[in-house]
Amino acid sequence: MTNIAHSPLDRTINPDAAATKEWDVIVIGAGPAGALAATLLARHGVRTLLIERKKFPRYKVCGACLNPVSLAILRSVQLEHTFTSGVALNGFHLQSRGRALKLDLPGSLSISRERFDAELVRAAINAGVQFLSECIAKVLPARTADELNLSHPPFRDVDVKPDGAASRVLRASIVIAADGLTHSCLAGLDEFSSSVKETSRIGAGVVIPDAPSFYQAGRIYMAVGRGGYAGLVRLEDQRLNIAAALDSGYVRDCGSLVEAARRIVAAAGFPVLDALSAESTCEWHGTPALTRSTMPLAAHRLFVVGDAAGYVEPFTGEGIAWALASAKSVVPLVQCASLQWDDLLKRTWQSDWMQAVGHHQVWCRRLATLLRYPAAVSTITSIVSTCPWLAGPVVRSLNRVPEPAALALRSSTTARKAG
Ligand SMILES: Cc1cc2nc3c(=O)[nH]c(=O)nc-3n(C[C@H](O)[C@H](O)[C@H](O)COP(=O)(O)OP(=O)(O)OC[C@H]3O[C@@H](n4cnc5c(N)ncnc54)[C@H](O)[C@@H]3O)c2cc1C
Repeated sequence: MTNIAHSPLDRTINPDAAATKEWDVIVIGAGPAGALAATLLARHGVRTLLIERKKFPRYKVCGACLNPVSLAILRSVQLEHTFTSGVALNGFHLQSRGRALKLDLPGSLSISRERFDAELVRAAINAGVQFLSECIAKVLPARTADELNLSHPPFRDVDVKPDGAASRVLRASIVIAADGLTHSCLAGLDEFSSSVKETSRIGAGVVIPDAPSFYQAGRIYMAVGRGGYAGLVRLEDQRLNIAAALDSGYVRDCGSLVEAARRIVAAAGFPVLDALSAESTCEWHGTPALTRSTMPLAAHRLFVVGDAAGYVEPFTGEGIAWALASAKSVVPLVQCASLQWDDLLKRTWQSDWMQAVGHHQVWCRRLATLLRYPAAVSTITSIVSTCPWLAGPVVRSLNRVPEPAALALRSSTTARKAG
């Protein structure tokens, strides 16, 4: 049987051909935010180019869990086939200092990012998006009306550098920056600034082929300790995905990402895996600081979505839901903007993003602060294991699915404001 997760996903257009066309929209970054925004735009007949730095499928540091909000958003746009191979999750098993807390966790699933992200890009291509991979994109400064001798410059330029070849400049009416945590495609633009929380943790991850049977499919194992936390979950092909958020000082003291993760898993009381030994050949990947924000979220003919717009530590596993929600919310604005640009759209996106994502990140920030105190986590673990109903409101709040009617109303309000 062909392993879809690992079969290559070729580009549908080459850089030379892409440079000869005028695009309505260029989307930079083919993660969940970029792929979904591109798909929805192409379905509306918008000529859309999706540019991605890596060759797909590609690994991404992630806990690999889709929560009920992610699944609801995907269903609402008829993309449920992108997660059908995932493993249904039913339990959450947290341990800190040997104390265990086991909760039911219905309605989520685990799926490798190689497979999920590739399925989303396939859906985009099927909707009519042109996919240009293995190219690094960088948004160029907006040209002034004087330079162009126009009252409003009608496009935005993007420098596109294919692997091992010279750059080309591509042009689009609107650009969407969906290039993840570092939003490198905005580097060098005076219009944006990024702030990283001083105490922010860094991410680390690995996928291991053989794991002890203790780690069962359908459960998330979360080890919380001094220096960070690590989530372990079986994927659709039985491999074990490990993703951790770690204090960078702790990693320095431990000497490596793998040793930091090993100590956290061991101190929590979970079985330690061979893959967490110094001799293991499994390849670990790191991320830059996780808790960061970008300001503003829009500039002339440019919108920022997904992690590129701001991210908080991943304990609650909502990052993909935020990425999808921001992609879905930006689409009506981009449609209006590609017909006629209005500077008001910048402010509209700032407040729409706050509603779709920003408010939800507040909870996550509070929890991230609490997790810095393992003694408190251990005490809460004991209390909640005795009275599991206490966790109900938190779990319900994190998994609250937006009302489809509310989403539709918001989209039409946005379109009216912009129009
Ligand atoms: C340790 C950890 C665990 C997590 N666990 C979960 C979880 O269990 N559930 C969950 O929902 N979320 C989780 N997240 C968060 C989740 O991974 C992200 O929120 C999500 O991937 C954001 O999607 P995105 O599309 O914005 O960005 P990404 O998925 O990062 O995609 C961005 C894409 O842009 C490409 N790119 C970057 N720069 C350029 C460029 N200049 N030109 C072209 N392409 C470029 C990248 O190669 C990448 O493919 C976790 C994150 C971490 C770090």
